[in-house]
Amino acid sequence: MTAEKTTSSDTFPSHAQVVIIGGGVIGTNIAYHLAHLGVRDVVLLEAHRLTAGTTWHAAGLVTSAGMVDETAMFMARYTRDFYEKLEAETGIATGFRPIGHISTATTPQRLEALRRDCAFLHGFGVEHREISREEVKALWPLANVDDVLAGFFNEQEGRIDPVDVTMSLAKGARMKGARIIEGVRVNGITQANGRVTGVLTDRGPIAAETIVNAAGMWGREVGRMAGVDVALQAAEHYYIITERVEGVDRDLPIIEDPDLYGYYRPEGDGLLVGLFEPVAAPWQLDEIPRDFAFG
Ligand SMILES: Cc1cc2nc3c(=O)[nH]c(=O)nc-3n(C[C@H](O)[C@H](O)[C@H](O)COP(=O)(O)OP(=O)(O)OC[C@H]3O[C@@H](n4cnc5c(N)ncnc54)[C@H](O)[C@@H]3O)c2cc1C
Repeated sequence: MTAEKTTSSDTFPSHAQVVIIGGGVIGTNIAYHLAHLGVRDVVLLEAHRLTAGTTWHAAGLVTSAGMVDETAMFMARYTRDFYEKLEAETGIATGFRPIGHISTATTPQRLEALRRDCAFLHGFGVEHREISREEVKALWPLANVDDVLAGFFNEQEGRIDPVDVTMSLAKGARMKGARIIEGVRVNGITQANGRVTGVLTDRGPIAAETIVNAAGMWGREVGRMAGVDVALQAAEHYYIITERVEGVDRDLPIIEDPDLYGYYRPEGDGLLVGLFEPVAAPWQLDEIPRDFAFG
């Protein structure tokens, strides 16, 4: 799906109440929510095309597993419910599918930790329940459950398509008056009296009262434009997509084995196997390349 274009040389804005830098899932979410809160003059600038940063290749897991502080848990639950209903408003599907999410425990320590997480989530009404090894096997027949002590299952959560979500958010933001302009890079941030006054772009300056840094892994570079240190370092994270695997059903839940740092979900006829490295390698220590897009 390609993004709707709103750029034309004669309509490039000279002023905005809020300028958002970055058109990934975060920038478009902020544009959507500001527009829905009644902020009328929102401009989002994206250097390449929407989703070009890290958003396009996210695995699309939407889960509250591991979100064991109140804010993170609220965000996870809000996001799930929001993506489920966004299509009705914008007409663009988000790819949300509540296929369910299982975390497995293979050590007594993990079992204790996941039980505590489960109790925490219950306290906020999240339907997360402990299931037996046999139930894990019944839900995920391909899994070797010999070392599984128990599973923790949430059947309301699942996956989205990150590109579709971003396009849906962008449409919803535009419907409320936000402007989303692709192919425009912010090269500098102007300031006076300790406050931001606008951005400098390769298509000219835009005066702005508020600037939002939603530049993802470029956030450190964008912060530097305003003299702000953003403590952010990109790190490598991988998933692989297999060829066809006999017995994979597209409705299998996501299954996560935190002791092996792995997550698995159906992808077509095969599997997407993601790896949460315990010690991830940093990527591009000096600067994230400016021209890195859809990489
Ligand atoms: C392999 C992998 C799998 C993942 N799986 C999941 C998952 O299952 N679930 C989950 O929730 N998260 C997942 N993530 C994390 C998720 O992808 C990121 O948290 C998310 O995409 C970050 O979005 P963002 O909008 O902050 O950044 P980005 O998508 O990177 O967007 C930032 C944008 O800013 C633009 N930009 C940068 N500098 C400028 C500038 N100067 N001017 C204008 N524009 C600029 C860039 O071009 C880019 O498009 C995964 C990540 C990876 C790498």
